[in-house]
Amino acid sequence: MRKIIFLLAVFSIMSAPLFAAEAWRAPSKQQIDAVYSPAETLYEELHRNPELSFHEQKTAAIIADQLRKLGLDVTPNVGGTGVVGILKNGPGKTVMIRAELDALPVPEKTGLPYASHVTTKNDQGVEVPVMHACGHDLHMAIGVGTAALLAQNKDRWHGTFIYVGQPAEERIGGAKRMMQDGLFTRFPTPDYALAVHDTSDLPVGKVSYTPGYSAANSDSVDVTIFGVGGHGSQPQSTIDPIVIAARTILGWQTIVSRESDPQEPVVITVGSIHAGTKHNIIPDEVKMELTVRTYKDDIRKRVLSAVERVADGEAQAADAPKKPLVQVTEGVGAVYNDPKMTGELAAALKRVLGDSNVAEGRPMMASDDFAEYRTAGIPSTMLSLGAVNTEKFAAAQKSGELLPGPHSPFFAPEREASLRTGILAETAAVLELLGN
Ligand code: ZN
Ligand code: ZN
Repeated sequence: MRKIIFLLAVFSIMSAPLFAAEAWRAPSKQQIDAVYSPAETLYEELHRNPELSFHEQKTAAIIADQLRKLGLDVTPNVGGTGVVGILKNGPGKTVMIRAELDALPVPEKTGLPYASHVTTKNDQGVEVPVMHACGHDLHMAIGVGTAALLAQNKDRWHGTFIYVGQPAEERIGGAKRMMQDGLFTRFPTPDYALAVHDTSDLPVGKVSYTPGYSAANSDSVDVTIFGVGGHGSQPQSTIDPIVIAARTILGWQTIVSRESDPQEPVVITVGSIHAGTKHNIIPDEVKMELTVRTYKDDIRKRVLSAVERVADGEAQAADAPKKPLVQVTEGVGAVYNDPKMTGELAAALKRVLGDSNVAEGRPMMASDDFAEYRTAGIPSTMLSLGAVNTEKFAAAQKSGELLPGPHSPFFAPEREASLRTGILAETAAVLELLGN
């Protein structure tokens, strides 16, 4: 007996360095094969059954069910339809991945056998088509594949993994609602937050990372300009709000071109303008909807205040009866990828995917409420995942053809390769962050 204990002790001392040398840094091809088929089935099911922002009940139920079957501790209805799945596996770091649950009011035109034919009433009661046109179905399936690999290989890592199924990314409200409902207080607070988003800017098999700002502050601004209406033939007895609006729109562009540092990106877009009913009537008001994009907080504040100042000034110059009404109706902060975390992930992904498949990306002026987790103090990184068929991508590069990207009715990620690369990259990234 004593001999056996002695032998066991010797064996465990000898095997300790051996075991440590075998850190699990990424799933093998066989390990991905083992989770691929259910991930593909899930992807197609989600793709066929998209739901609009804040209405992701069925999607959330599917994700909760999948995570439960993998052995995660699942809490549904976090901040509305949000799902939190937790896999505790001993001491160590806590890493969360974010997958979005929602789809878009877009009519699918991909012609895929698993295309969506869903229509539903939107919040205004209008019947609209629904499609996973942003690839959130892909992100959800990749996340479940990653969760499956971690659940099946618990002896090879330690720490806590959290799957966050987040509602309403497209309406930038879901992340905030989940946090207000205790995402970081009722559940373990993550050391890191990670997200993967598909892109048509890269062929499948490639991943890009962007240290620092990668998506912008985005503010929706509603502006009403007031005038005095009257007959179109008698402008002298009116104050024409359409002319005031025209001057205001041009004035806003000088906030970008004349007031802003050319090294600090600013976008002001008037996406909607409505006034009047007929050729010969001067209306008494104009309504406009703007999106304002910036990166830094001080610039965001300055630009939003300049939008109001310019509108006020033009109204005053035209002797308008009252000041324009300027309201910021919704806003989200910029996605800032923690540079140290992003650098470490880039190095890890280069080891796994090969140097030529991991590139530094360009910041965009798009927005994503993944930003909220960083604002809450969690170091975060969002990676971009190439989703375009390699030959199609090469041909488009040559011809200059613009490929359909996220939000297009024709956007169709290359299914199998996107899923496989996504699961490989996300699992490797999670293992790196767990400190494997
Ligand atoms: Zn989107
Ligand atoms: Zn998206």
